[in-house]
Amino acid sequence: MLKKIFCACFILLPFIGIAQNNTGIPIPMKKGIVYYDKSFPVAGGFIKQEFTKGATAWLKKTFPNDAALVRMGWAGITSEGIFKIKTSAAGNYYLLKFKLEIASNDSGYTIRAYNFYENSNVKGKTHEYSKIEYRWWDYRQGKPWSADDKPLFEGLDSNMTAMFSSFQSYPLILKAARSAHTPKFKVLAFFSTNVETDHVDFAWDAIRFYKNMADRNGFAFDTTSNWENLNDANLKGYKVMIWLNEFPHNEAERRSFEKFMNNGGRWLGFHVSGYNDKDTHWPWFVNFMGGAVFYNNNWPPLPAKMIVDDNKNPITKHLPKQYTAPINEWYGWKPNPRDNKNVKVLVTLNPSNYPLGKKDVIKNGDIPVVWSNTKYKMVYMNMGHGDKNFESPVQNKMFEDAVLWLGE
Ligand code: ZN
Repeated sequence: MLKKIFCACFILLPFIGIAQNNTGIPIPMKKGIVYYDKSFPVAGGFIKQEFTKGATAWLKKTFPNDAALVRMGWAGITSEGIFKIKTSAAGNYYLLKFKLEIASNDSGYTIRAYNFYENSNVKGKTHEYSKIEYRWWDYRQGKPWSADDKPLFEGLDSNMTAMFSSFQSYPLILKAARSAHTPKFKVLAFFSTNVETDHVDFAWDAIRFYKNMADRNGFAFDTTSNWENLNDANLKGYKVMIWLNEFPHNEAERRSFEKFMNNGGRWLGFHVSGYNDKDTHWPWFVNFMGGAVFYNNNWPPLPAKMIVDDNKNPITKHLPKQYTAPINEWYGWKPNPRDNKNVKVLVTLNPSNYPLGKKDVIKNGDIPVVWSNTKYKMVYMNMGHGDKNFESPVQNKMFEDAVLWLGE
């Protein structure tokens, strides 16, 4: 037994030796290289878009000459940092170059600095960058290359410490964290899971889409599949309500919605949430929809060409004059909401689509697809059937712009 322990120690010793650092300078290492890797939790997270903006601004301020090196990637920002470290009263200095990464997630951010290279103005040197590890290795073995080593390594570590704290306290970084705590506005999206599968698929896609958008834009996005939450007490604090694939069926929920809208609430309805027919028995809602009553539809669901009626409107300002919307089931309406003077039609089904459908065919007619009843702050979009609706980046801009407009 004793022999075994002795053997193990004997084998391990050289490796312990590699990791050892008796210099008094706490330079961290990972896999044999100098590697600073610090994570900073941010309670409550931050708005990613603003964090990225802040991090980029900080980089440009801290390393102005390397600003062009900033690279944005899926994991965060990659750049290069450089420090000048004075090592002697006689004027010796070293340039310390390194790779710098700033990555964020929901709970905080991580800064990594590695691949350190040094270069100096010292006479008789090559003035080429060389890996810091060569010199750091010898220094740790008690074999400094020159009197510059100690101030160089002390400078490396103190510059890193200062860099981290400068990032942490950078006003734009603090602001990104602060604004995450106070959402610009709050959205509550209602959906149902016990409805047509294609409508449920849409709801899940929409929830993913808007959660992501909320994170980037700093608003709160809550969801519920319990329509009983459509009551006065629960709606308090919510500026925007979204119906993803259903509408309220009972009186209490309907009254509460009417009150919400009459008191300046904002609404976005997709597809079947605007559906109403002779059996719906909710005249207020028909009026709210600009008089539109479901008339016909195409089947199977199909992509369709769209005409954008107005490119100046905040909801459709990023849409071209015409575009093709992904696969959806399209509804026709009678009465036509365009006949209502308070209705502003924003997108219309292009008649060149006709005949649209096989089993159920839309043969003709003026069919508004996106519109707003200007007596309220509301917008209805007929998209919302199936799992393809978010496949058009062009159309996605409208989905985003609508919520930003409602949240104003
Ligand atoms: Zn449908």
